[in-house]
Formats: sequence, C-alpha cells, structure tokens
Amino acid sequence: MLDPLAMGSVSVFALGGLGEVGMNCLAIEQRGEVMLVDCGVTFDHRGLGVDVVHPDFSALEPYRGKIAGLFVTHGHEDHIGAIPYFLERFDVPVWAPPHALALIKSRLAENEVEKPPTLKEANVRGLYRVGSFVVEPIRVTHSIADATALAIKTDAGVVLHTGDFKFDNTPPDGEAFDIDRIDELGEAGIALLLSDSTNIDAAGETGSERGVGDSLHRITAKASGAVVVAMFASNVHRLRMIGEIARHTKRKIVLLGRSVETHASAARETRYLDWPSDIVHPAERAKELPKNQILAIASGTQGEWRGALSRIARGDHPNFEVGPGDTVVLSSRTIPGNDLNVFSVMGHLLRRGVDLKTWINERGVHVSGHAHRQEQKRMLELARPRAFVPVHGTLHHLTRHADLAREVGVQSTCVLENGDVAQVDEAGVKKAGKVQVGRVHVAFGRAIPPAQLRERVILAAEGVVSVTIVARPGGAPDVRVATRGAIDEVAEAQVLSDAKREAARAFRTRRSRSRPAQSGTR
Ligand SMILES: [Zn+2]
Ligand SMILES: [Zn+2]
Repeated sequence: MLDPLAMGSVSVFALGGLGEVGMNCLAIEQRGEVMLVDCGVTFDHRGLGVDVVHPDFSALEPYRGKIAGLFVTHGHEDHIGAIPYFLERFDVPVWAPPHALALIKSRLAENEVEKPPTLKEANVRGLYRVGSFVVEPIRVTHSIADATALAIKTDAGVVLHTGDFKFDNTPPDGEAFDIDRIDELGEAGIALLLSDSTNIDAAGETGSERGVGDSLHRITAKASGAVVVAMFASNVHRLRMIGEIARHTKRKIVLLGRSVETHASAARETRYLDWPSDIVHPAERAKELPKNQILAIASGTQGEWRGALSRIARGDHPNFEVGPGDTVVLSSRTIPGNDLNVFSVMGHLLRRGVDLKTWINERGVHVSGHAHRQEQKRMLELARPRAFVPVHGTLHHLTRHADLAREVGVQSTCVLENGDVAQVDEAGVKKAGKVQVGRVHVAFGRAIPPAQLRERVILAAEGVVSVTIVARPGGAPDVRVATRGAIDEVAEAQVLSDAKREAARAFRTRRSRSRPAQSGTR
C-alpha cells in the first residue's frame, strides 16, 4: 500500500494534452529523474496529408539516461499513439494494462521500431517501481476496457492521475470502478490530483454503457433490413454488447473498416471480447447474407473521407451497400470541427433512404466516456487532494475545472498549458518555469519539416504559379506560365497572357541591368 510521504519537491509538466484535447503526455520529475504518463497523438492538418501529430520530445533531452519509464493509463490513441515515435528516440521501459499493451504491440508492429522495446504488463492494485517512483494502477471505468488511474508515490506525496474516466455503475465487462481505493488514498492524503476535464460543460452524469446496449438491442430487434452501427472501434464494451445483440437477434457481425478489425482482434486476444468464433462473417462475403441477418460495425464516425461509414454513404464500399429498409445508427458523438463532414455523410445516407438514428434523434445510442461535471465533482470529493491540476482539455475546460475544484474546497489549484512547469510540495502547487514544447507532424511514418508544412499550408490556401523562361541569345525569351489552384477558369486566358508579357518584360529589364555587373565581378 502506498502511504503518502511528504519530504521533497516534485515537478510536473506536459508535452501535450494541456490546452488541447489529444496528444496526452505528462512528465513527473524528482531528483533529476523523470517518468511519463501516457504518450498520445492528435489529428490535425489532415487535408494536407498529415497522418498524425505527436509531441516534440526535445524537452526530455536533458533527462536522457534518467527517464525511468513510461506508464500508460489506457489504450486510446490520444494516450498510446505516439509511443513508436517516442521509443525511436528514447529507449525506456513501458508499463501498460494488458488491453493497452496489446494495442501498443500492434502499433509497434505497424511502425517497425528497430530495437525491441521493453514492454511490461501492469495490473490493477499491483505496485510497480519506476526509478524512484512507485506506481499503482487503479481500475476506473471509461469507453475502453481496462482503463486505469495511477497513484504515483513521489517525494512530495501521492500524485493521483485519474486517466480518462467516468463513473459507470454497470460496466458491461463487470470491471467496477475501484472507488474504495481512491477513497482510501484520499483518506490517507493525496498531494496532487490530476483529473480529466473534457466534459466540464456537460451537466449531470454520463450514463452507463449498458443503456447504449439496451438501445442498440431495441433498434436491431425492430429492424427489417441490415443494421449498421458506426462507432469508435476502441469501445470494447460496445463491441461486446453488439456481440450479445447479434446472438439474441440471430444476426452475424460484419466488420467494416480496418480500425474495427484491429480493435476487435486486439480485444479478442486479450479476452476482453468473448465473441464466439462463428459470429463474425467476413466482410468480403457480406453480400451472401440476407440483409436481415446482418449487424455491421463500421468505423469512420467523424465522416473521414476514407472511413467505412463515408464510403457506405457514398455507395463506394467494395463489399457493402445500404438502401431503403436498412438502419444506420451513429453510435457516437461528433468531435467539434468534424460537424460538416458528419452532416454531409448523414445527407448521403438519407438520400439512400436508410432509417438513420443518431444522438440527435434517438436517445441512448451513445454515451460519453468522460465524466460529466457532477462526476468530476465526485472525483474531487473522493480524492480531496491538497492540490489540483486539471488535465485533458482546452484552456477553457481546464479553467472551468479548476473553478470547480475551488468550489469544493481544494486549497491549491493551478492551470497549466503544455510546457508550463509546476512545482508540487507541502505548500501545494505553483508555476515554476517553462520547457520548450511543440508538435511533430507525421506523414507515412516520417516527420514533415516545419518549413514543408508551411509550404503545404500556403499551397493549399493560394495554389502555385510557376514561370519558366528559356533565354535565347539575341532572340525573344520563351516564357511559359503554369498554374495549379490559383486562377479561375474564366479569367485564365487573359491572366496567363498578361503574366507571360510581364514575365518577359521583367526578364529583359533584369538582363539589361545585370550585364555591366557581370563584367565587373568576373
Ligand atoms: Zn483521452
Ligand atoms: Zn480515453
């Protein structure tokens, strides 16, 4: 058991995840040594060919050789996605709960990391020594199986990092939130609480995943044609319930989309998903099944152009099509910024005549995995920490969450953004300097240099004009002007001929001016 022990000072700083939703990566430092909690990616500039964005790890360079390890709370991309890039630069051990570990292994296999990393399984209520830190994972409930909070014993006392959580009283996998353990730690004294701020604006409580299962069951039982459930593939609870629904309604599961397949197979490997082997029907042969025997699961809930849902909506999926009589359920929420794409996909589906059920018109088809305000308050009251730093949110979310902590009586609170260093000691928490942070944009597994990304932004916004001039001694120059994405069709001929004339004139002026200089310098 961890007993709080206040003797020294400890610093925390984030390389990502504070002031944004995504790319979570927090460093805790004591005695010149660092441990990391989570190492995730975010998505940005997708239209410019960027696949993922991960934190710039340069701030960890001064700790090279003194990074004790990385501890992972759960298997969501915004917590594990950057691990292959991190391990390329720093060869340190990684601890993770079994389900997250399976996902990390599949990420590493895709990214072909050179040296085999040291991966260690971390189980709830175990104690793990990470350099001078001792870490205890604690079961929490969330929208993925095997999610944990971490109680980290430091020189300044116990630091409790909630990870992503909500209070789900009836989790579909029966793994109950270990409320007692957090209460015990709170009783003994928590020096610093770091807690999930994502849903600070949502009133009340999130509701149980179990309720989503009931809604999906009701919809599927009534449907006469195929049922397609679009969802985040990482939500193993929901996958598990869809398995139960398929069995009850005598349908086969068809997996549409690569991420659905990856997640289903990782969850089946770790036995978090107990689908019988004959319940999944291969997507390539989906057309063999009568429509009323299909319960499909599709990825691409954010309207991603290449996502399965988008392709089905456009009638562009190689193995599957929908029409009148079929039901499509968006068992998801739209992440701010993706609204237009999602509404466009919804439009395509409606044009095909499907019965469309979304979080807007059908209660209970989705619940969030992140604690609402009321649950965040409950966490603060359970942990009753001496100091509080909100995590996992934009500056707005963090600020509001810190306000809530003060309302419930937390003495010392501090809102940090990426790069801000906070010092934790007996007096509480306060800002104490800054480290350099940044974002690395990756395409095809490689970093895109910042200058190249800036060029892509300019090209995307303004297009490109290229002028080629072939000079002939004594003759008129041959000028060619080519444009891409820069000129509208109607104006094109006139603009191009003007541009050619201007370019030829500029060239002649320049040539006549440069002659004396040339003879002078050579
Ligand atoms: Zn998260
Ligand atoms: Zn999460």
